Amino acid sequence: MQKKSALSAIINHKCPRCRQGDLFKYSLLEKPHRFTETNKTCPHCQLIFEREPGFFFGAMYVSYALTMGVLLSTAFILYNLFGDPELWVYILTVPSIVLLLLPVIFRYSRTLYLHGFGGVSFDKKYTEEVEL
Ligand SMILES: [Zn+2]
Repeated sequence: MQKKSALSAIINHKCPRCRQGDLFKYSLLEKPHRFTETNKTCPHCQLIFEREPGFFFGAMYVSYALTMGVLLSTAFILYNLFGDPELWVYILTVPSIVLLLLPVIFRYSRTLYLHGFGGVSFDKKYTEEVEL
C-alpha cells in the first residue's frame, strides 16, 4: 500500500489517523449537491470524526479564513489583471466566486479543522488492511 503524507491526506479529505478512510460520503464530482454529508466514523479505522458534540462548529473559523482568502484574491486579481473595473463588476464577481467555491471551502475547512484541532495523530498500525 502506498504511504500517504499528511498533506496528501488533507488534499484528498482523508482520515487523520489512517489517512485512508474518506471524511465525506460522496466525492464532489460524484454528487456535488450532497457536499455536506460527512461520515460519522472513518470507513477504514472507525475513528469518530466528530470528536465531541458540535466539534465541527469550530471549522467555521477556518471557513472564514478561507473565504476571506478567496474574496481578497478575487478582488486582487480583478484589480490587477482587469485594470480596476467598475464597482458593479466587483459586486457581481466576488460573491459569485465565493458561492461557486462554497463546497470546496466547506470541505477544506472541516478537513483542516479535523487535522489541526482534532487531537488525532497519524498511527501506522491503522494503515494496514482491515481483516474481515
Ligand atoms: Zn481512519
